[in-house]
Amino acid sequence: MQVCIHRGSKEIGGSCVEVVSDCGKRIVLDLGLPLDAESNDKMYLPNIPGLDGSDNSLLAVLISHPHLDHFGLLGHISGNIPVIMGKDARNILIKAAPFQRGDWTVPALGLNFKSETPFELGPFKITPYLIDHSGYDAYSLLIEADGKRLFYSGDFRMHGRKAKLTEKLMAHPPEKIDILLLEGSTLGRLENHETFPTETEIEEQLATVFAETTGLTLVHTSAQNIDRVVSIFRACKRTGKTLVIDLYTAVVLEATGNKNIPQSDWPEIALYIPENQRIQIKQNQWFNLLKRHLKNRIFIGNLKSISNSSVLLFRPLHIHDLENADLLKNAFYIYSQWEGYWDKEENEYFRDWIDKHKIPKISIHTSGHASPADLKRFAEALAPVRIVPIHTFMPEKYQELFNNVELNADGVYWEV
Ligand SMILES: [Zn+2]
Repeated sequence: MQVCIHRGSKEIGGSCVEVVSDCGKRIVLDLGLPLDAESNDKMYLPNIPGLDGSDNSLLAVLISHPHLDHFGLLGHISGNIPVIMGKDARNILIKAAPFQRGDWTVPALGLNFKSETPFELGPFKITPYLIDHSGYDAYSLLIEADGKRLFYSGDFRMHGRKAKLTEKLMAHPPEKIDILLLEGSTLGRLENHETFPTETEIEEQLATVFAETTGLTLVHTSAQNIDRVVSIFRACKRTGKTLVIDLYTAVVLEATGNKNIPQSDWPEIALYIPENQRIQIKQNQWFNLLKRHLKNRIFIGNLKSISNSSVLLFRPLHIHDLENADLLKNAFYIYSQWEGYWDKEENEYFRDWIDKHKIPKISIHTSGHASPADLKRFAEALAPVRIVPIHTFMPEKYQELFNNVELNADGVYWEV
């Protein structure tokens, strides 16, 4: 079995790995958009034969989890290539796509992962393991072929709401791993001894701020970070606040197919549709979609009257509505996603908006990725013969943590 990291050996984002069996059949693990890509352009597609559907030695593309830097280039490949991923992850991408700008088409064709249930694909035997990550329905993958065993960690952590999944994998790890392709997002961002707050600690921090805020609380996060939405919801419940979501968030939460995840018809939730989402609904005639989520709908006047007991799952598309309705008095803004996005140039107008209205801002966030110490625990549990860095800006740092590291550059084919 041969492996080629097409992108990711020395960067976070754009992850893509090709695995080739001795008989020439191939699979691709992830097909992500690079983080520094200016647009979702076809020019970023890695040079892998058959992505246009012309080569049947390419059996499938497997997507570990629904983050752009792992699936973003799927729209550029032939619809005849099976795309294998989690069922709920696929559903989230399909349902979220119409709300996004650009072409985020996700081919519906392909098997769904079932955790710990192996399946065969030509000469490959693949076993997915559901794992804790900030992306929903995320998997690590065990790939077996030609008597060799490759374990692809995907993105993972052990301080989220599903930490037990990672702990379970480490307690009963697959045996005799030849290669562990191990993500290392936090290397160089966190000292080797430092750790992240747990998602439960994030819930506590949120609840403290919610309790003290006398105006509308704005929490800026990704609706697809389901763990975080749950933390926000639980902090709302603890402080007697209503969580106000928009239609996009309602649709994403519904797409999880998980009845334990907050939904638009729960009594502690309200649906407020921002003006430009109303236009989007009209233009696209999403009236049936809207109907399904109408139960707790409120309008801007209602939101004004309950602003001191409400937490808005905020996105920049809300700013004109909030301004026009004079909803910013005593408002408090919580930034609850990766700091790297805050400094992006495209957010300048938004940073200015916060300044202009003198809205107090704090950050409450934890990483979707394992700390260096947790990476070490993970590697020790899986006990691979060799560890190959991926999804990291600091491949050279692996040698500080592990003694069996093999660096493999982008575009090079190597033997497992
Ligand atoms: Zn991820």
